[in-house]
Amino acid sequence: MNELIADIREQVVFLRELGVSEIDANLLVPVEPERRASRPVETRPASQPFEPIASVIPTIARSSETTAETRQTNVSRLSMLPSLSNRPSPKRTTNVPPSENLAAVPDEPMTVITTNFANDPNISAILSIREEIGPDCARCKLSTLGRKQVVNSVGNFNADLMFVGEAPGADEDLQGEPFVGRAGQLLTDIIEKGLQIPRKDVFIGNINRCRPPQNRAPEPNETFACKPFLLREIEIVKPRVIVVLGATAAHNLLDTKVPIGKLRGQFHDYRGSKVMPTFHPAYLLRDPHKKREVWEDMKMVRDFLASSA
Ligand code: SF4
Repeated sequence: MNELIADIREQVVFLRELGVSEIDANLLVPVEPERRASRPVETRPASQPFEPIASVIPTIARSSETTAETRQTNVSRLSMLPSLSNRPSPKRTTNVPPSENLAAVPDEPMTVITTNFANDPNISAILSIREEIGPDCARCKLSTLGRKQVVNSVGNFNADLMFVGEAPGADEDLQGEPFVGRAGQLLTDIIEKGLQIPRKDVFIGNINRCRPPQNRAPEPNETFACKPFLLREIEIVKPRVIVVLGATAAHNLLDTKVPIGKLRGQFHDYRGSKVMPTFHPAYLLRDPHKKREVWEDMKMVRDFLASSA
């Protein structure tokens, strides 16, 4: 009996997630759209938008080629419904581009089973930040200095590991994604070949989202305008480790002037996350000898993530 009650509770929760707003003792479920369309309106009172579960079960069973006899004798009503335990957890499955994920979410609640992204609060929270920034943000003068677009953060919105740079470069400005040029490819190698993590499973952003002219460092009033959005994303994603790339980003995030050579090689505490400053990939392209130190930093990151998993 306890198992039956637990099963009922589980299915009620699931039905509510699917959009069933009212569940009474008759266990009502939503009517499939094509059946709703083909059925005369007068067969169901307008005050009852659902039909009893018993009349829905045969349709589900037909689709699974179950015989009528089997249905009537052996199959419980609840066993015909999807199980919560069989559904993948939204945690660690929310990868970029989120707009594609959301575009795949249909309006019809009964077909949402394969896309749980809509249930992930981090997606809506970060998309609302993007919406707030807007495609034509003019909160700082970088909006007037030749940027092509605002380059938002990308990646897994539930990531354990986050990378933060200072601002987009020319390639990022063109493509609308952080770290996609030569330096970005090197960062991808660090993530995928060094740390053995797919790039899509980390979160990547910049202090400033618009390209400064001639790739100069963002000015203080520019970072003052843009950094709050990144900080809000960090609050949402809550990565266990933030790798901050280069002196400008490290100084801005940690609010310090200590040289990057002294900041790197050790963790710093920041809002519940561990921050590992290291050299920017663009710097490594100019001075490949620094790769060894970056690798030392990444090994510390890898070991911390493994030990605190
Ligand atoms: S850098 Fe940030 S604050 Fe400045 S215009 Fe771009 S998005 Fe807006």
